[in-house]
Amino acid sequence: MIPVTKPYLPSREKLDAYIDGIYERNWLTNNGPLVQELTRRLEEYLGIENLLLVSNGTLALQIAYRTLGVTESVEGKAAEAITTPFTFVATASSLKWEGVEPVFVDIDSDSWNMDPRNIEAAITPQTRALVPVHVFGNPCEVEAIQAIADQHNLKVIYDAAHAFGVKYKGESVLKWGDAATLSFHATKVFHTIEGGAIIFKRREDLEKAKLLINFGISGPDRINELGINAKMNEFNAAMGLCVLDEMEGNLQSRAAVWRRYKKAFEKSLKVQTIPKELDYNYAYFSVLFESEEQTVNVSATLKEYGVVARRYFYPSLDSVDCLRVNAEYPVSTNISSRILCLPLFDHLSGAEQWNIINLIKTELEA
Ligand SMILES: *Cc1c(COP(=O)(O)O)cnc(C)c1O
Repeated sequence: MIPVTKPYLPSREKLDAYIDGIYERNWLTNNGPLVQELTRRLEEYLGIENLLLVSNGTLALQIAYRTLGVTESVEGKAAEAITTPFTFVATASSLKWEGVEPVFVDIDSDSWNMDPRNIEAAITPQTRALVPVHVFGNPCEVEAIQAIADQHNLKVIYDAAHAFGVKYKGESVLKWGDAATLSFHATKVFHTIEGGAIIFKRREDLEKAKLLINFGISGPDRINELGINAKMNEFNAAMGLCVLDEMEGNLQSRAAVWRRYKKAFEKSLKVQTIPKELDYNYAYFSVLFESEEQTVNVSATLKEYGVVARRYFYPSLDSVDCLRVNAEYPVSTNISSRILCLPLFDHLSGAEQWNIINLIKTELEA
């Protein structure tokens, strides 16, 4: 079977050496030396500051909302945050879980990101934040989004779960927003098995979040405020350090797969439009088919041959029961009904990939 993605497994020897160190120190969690080392190395690799490692990408979002005051009600009413229906469920469910009402706005039909032109009509007195997503690592219109946030005094939290290592105009896209969050889940480009991070614009927000992820404890005998447990542990950090050492090979091999797909499909199918001034991470390759029927047929044909392509993101989140809203999002609904994410991981062989491409092309001609 060829899955849609495969977790990257780094050198076993190196991982064993890190684990030997953990055994010697008997320091397993609570800001251990490997968590500290991974923090420093990621800040350097990504070219950013104020990075906080946490236990997963969903808690990264929740801690960011709390730190930035997004969860506080407005004159007795629940706060609102404007986000996109074309994303992984955690973007919107994390808001709802924190008592913030997600308000969807439709996406751009080329970039597949939140369309900034739709934001202002969705702002109400309860709106506290914008929560856009760099979908498949494609940077949002960050300048336009920041201008709207400044004008209306809103916080911006980017769900950057797909944007590890992405640079826009030569700089990390993670520098945009009051905070940007990463997921280091096993299926992501860079991973720690489970894990995540928050990159804050301001140092004082980082310091506040450090307390929140450790039960609000600020000293041996002092509990400063309401907190939760969202700490990363030493074993996860060890995996991260090993994967980070091998990023270059991982990215090169993903880029080769990505470019082969692009060449094969850019003329016959619609693909995501990405800006020119971009250093991309080749995290995902998605294509749009002509109709939902064709999408389902292609997916079924691939499955017959043991290839898993995922309808990612489907369905559009406004139609999910626990998040349902009484409004229509025609672009998101349309794109999510016709999209397939194709297998993309570092050990996908050329032969396997040609097989996938040919199966899809045959189905398109049928
Ligand atoms: C993976 C992902 C998350 C959740 O991250 P976890 O580490 O799995 O909790 C959130 N948002 C997006 C867009 C994701 O792809």
